[in-house]
Amino acid sequence: MARALIENVDIVTLDPHGTVLRDSCLAVEGEKIVGVGQAPPGFIPDERLDGHNHLAMPALFNAHCHAAMTYERGWAEDLPFARWLNEKIWVAESALRDEDVYWGAALAACEMFRGGVAGFNDHYFFMDRVAEVVEQSGMKAALAWCVFGIGDDREIGANLEGTLRFIERWSGRAQGRLRLFLGPHSPYICPPEFLRRIAELAHERSLGIHLHLSESEEQVENSLRANGLSPVAHLDRLGILQAPGGCIAAHCLCVSDEDLELLAQREVTVAHTPITYMKLAMGVPDLSRFARHKVTVAIGTDGPASNGDLDMFAALRQTAILQKHVQRDPQAMPGDAVLRMATQAGARGMGFPGSGVLAEGASADIALVNMDQPHLLPRHDVVANLVHSAKAADVSDLMVNGCWLMRKRELLTLDEEKIKFEAARGASRLVSQNMHRVRQYGA
Ligand SMILES: [Zn+2]
Repeated sequence: MARALIENVDIVTLDPHGTVLRDSCLAVEGEKIVGVGQAPPGFIPDERLDGHNHLAMPALFNAHCHAAMTYERGWAEDLPFARWLNEKIWVAESALRDEDVYWGAALAACEMFRGGVAGFNDHYFFMDRVAEVVEQSGMKAALAWCVFGIGDDREIGANLEGTLRFIERWSGRAQGRLRLFLGPHSPYICPPEFLRRIAELAHERSLGIHLHLSESEEQVENSLRANGLSPVAHLDRLGILQAPGGCIAAHCLCVSDEDLELLAQREVTVAHTPITYMKLAMGVPDLSRFARHKVTVAIGTDGPASNGDLDMFAALRQTAILQKHVQRDPQAMPGDAVLRMATQAGARGMGFPGSGVLAEGASADIALVNMDQPHLLPRHDVVANLVHSAKAADVSDLMVNGCWLMRKRELLTLDEEKIKFEAARGASRLVSQNMHRVRQYGA
């Protein structure tokens, strides 16, 4: 097994004590970290890396995105949410082909590598092609093929049975770096009997579920009218929140205390995507309520059509700053807490409990940040530097499962030039088709 030793490096471990080490070392053997602060006795590395002027942190986990929506970056700007979705996004997606998803997700992977992201939780279509990107790139991912349940002619690429076959095809592949979830779009589009069927399948096959939940007051009102229950309580009654492989619910912007209690009881991971909330003017939830009810919150970027990028440093910084602003409390959301949300909380929800911490026995998912930059000096408090000053572009190296995916900003597993060319070409084709159409799915 390959052994690597990173020396003279500052380390933000995110261990239970919040240990930060200065000018220290990190030892990796195979897929695991075997020493933090010192190498194990008799450890002879195959590779030594001088970490002078660098900081090692657990690599980031993006808890909710639609990676291939890189194709729609900058395509649906300055619109209200309903028009953004009905007139732009779903119109473009009605012309989507599986190779678009491959190149779009590959472009996303390049961007995520460059921002220190080890794993992403993806919800989209033609997911075999995203799985290929995961297999080839060396990243980790939880993948869900989005289904609507309102007629096979409305599904994109596969109906529910088709997505089950996708899960069967990819189970156990990509050296254990892949998790497979069921992906109903949301309770505001999927009919109750369809959601109940998905919950049954999740229980039969021990699967997790990833969906969108409670994004607006209008959705809550419609759910109360149609089901007599809030969207959260509705999903709970259908068995969705109890999926044995875990439930990841994106957004949860409009939730009552009773809803939060249910989310905590069912150990749902809520994916918080603050930049989308601001860009689409959806409002920003007060996360102190989630903390009071002990709801796990992880951080995502959402798709690049509603955020602009897949930069987890931006998303985590915005989470910290917005919570201080919303709560009118500068003590809200300390740096250590927001880093845990952007790493271990997402990793655990996605089914990678050994990731998101630099500790002996943990998965070797490590981002190195080049701290030799004007905006990262001085270094009184390196956690503060990471949260409030570092940018994605400061990440110099990325290791996932003990393998280097990026060294000194060079991508080692992806042909970035070819990917940029193919993705830009494919994206132009996609948005030039069906531009006159409007595809309406409901509220
Ligand atoms: Zn989303």
